[in-house]
Amino acid sequence: MVESRNWIGGEWIEPVGEKVVIKDPSNTEMEVGTITLSDGSHVLQAGEAARRASRGWAKLTGSARGEFLYKMADLLQSHLEEVAQLASQEMGKPISEMKMEVMRGVHLLRYYAAEGVRTHGQLIPSTQTEVVQYSKRVPLGVVGIITPWNFPVAIPIWKIAPALICGNTVVWKPAEYASLTAVRLTEIFAKAGLPEGVFNLVIGKGSVIGNQMIEKMDVDAISFTGSSMIGSHIAATCAKRHIKYQTEMGGKNAAIVLDDADIEKTIPMILSGAFRSAGQKCTATSRVIVEKGIMNSFIDALRQGLSNVKLSHALDPHAYLGPVASKEQYQTVNTYVELARREAEVVVEGANTLQKPGYYIPPLIVKGVGNDHKLVQEEIFGPVVTLLPAHDFEEAIQLCNQTVYGLSASIFTKDVNHAFRFLEEAEVGMVRVNQETAGVEYQSPFGGMKLSSSHTREQGVAALDFYTQWKTCAISYSV
Ligand code: NAD
Repeated sequence: MVESRNWIGGEWIEPVGEKVVIKDPSNTEMEVGTITLSDGSHVLQAGEAARRASRGWAKLTGSARGEFLYKMADLLQSHLEEVAQLASQEMGKPISEMKMEVMRGVHLLRYYAAEGVRTHGQLIPSTQTEVVQYSKRVPLGVVGIITPWNFPVAIPIWKIAPALICGNTVVWKPAEYASLTAVRLTEIFAKAGLPEGVFNLVIGKGSVIGNQMIEKMDVDAISFTGSSMIGSHIAATCAKRHIKYQTEMGGKNAAIVLDDADIEKTIPMILSGAFRSAGQKCTATSRVIVEKGIMNSFIDALRQGLSNVKLSHALDPHAYLGPVASKEQYQTVNTYVELARREAEVVVEGANTLQKPGYYIPPLIVKGVGNDHKLVQEEIFGPVVTLLPAHDFEEAIQLCNQTVYGLSASIFTKDVNHAFRFLEEAEVGMVRVNQETAGVEYQSPFGGMKLSSSHTREQGVAALDFYTQWKTCAISYSV
């Protein structure tokens, strides 16, 4: 059985606190490991260790920091199968998707390793003679990283890698239901030989460790991904302490299907966007807006497509739809399933034919509720989709934008005018034509508009904007 520990100042520290047994969501009779929920003192200790290491790490050249990231990438790649398996057992993501996620972590580390030798400043003409003026990116100092469980490898790495390459030291607090994977990742990264205190891990509850990190730890910036409710609390607390923050939050992503769409090609993308990872992606398709004229034929095709989507154990190599991650998730998503059965019209619902005790929720597609209904407006974060009819493109885009969220959206059409108008008018950070709402490439900026984000972006070169600050320098050579 795997156990959690904290990595502080280059040493493993045994935590003292409440122990929680982590059960495999695919088979709740199986125990995966035990985590110990640390008290707030360890996070303060981690902050001090990160502060002590900060100056030395910032003084290294970008290329020297990059070498550590290349080592981390190689080490992670050599442990790909093992990390993917542990994460699948801990939070229920199908193993094939989990392997792709670990590989994405490897790519992210290599991408940001190379940032160490890319341009990070500008030479700016001065209005004075014999003055050289330039501006450069400099590190922030100590960065606190708070992550969710739904991408237990990729999200932490898309924060840790740019933070480190920019010259910051890191304290990472993962979600409770991804803590075993976080400890294993840290054991692997520790072999890269990062100087002590540059990278620290503390396991515990968000309300204890997370809160202590944002309220008391000596920190210069917080990067958070999680729910909009917690994100808003983090933003308010950081603003009061004048700490730079980034909050990447929920979504209620729409796919629009116009009457000229290629339905045969569209259906697999709608199903994949809605039901892979059991709908637990921030970019999962949650609303499908369909032009009225094709609603009936679209529903027939959806029913046909869904008949191939079966619930499976996450370690089944062919698993497409696994369990949801935890008992809490199971209960929350089921309240929406019950609401849907009560107040909406079920279009199609899958069956659970598995004989295993696990957090399995069959896929559900419903229609017949108004645009202001909870099913249409609240983030469900499970395998539940609501269909909405639209008279035409104009109404479809209006419905798409009538939400507090703004993470991702797709349109399925062959009409180039509608495709371009959608790209212009959809109020989301990720807009896609004839592609599913989920799916992000590590080299592109990622993040949402409206309540989905604090308006910064992660990944790609955009991440450097968050993990650095600009310093403008001027030198006169006439004195
Ligand atoms: P969550 O908000 O419950 O928790 C996220 C993290 O915050 C966890 O590590 C948790 O322990 C910590 N936390 C909880 N309370 C805290 C507090 N008071 N102070 C500091 N930290 C605290 O979210 P979750 O259930 O882990 O993840 C699901 C959510 O994440 C969904 O809303 C999903 O849309 C969102 N998400 C967003 C993105 C994105 O990039 N926009 C990506 C993945 C997930």
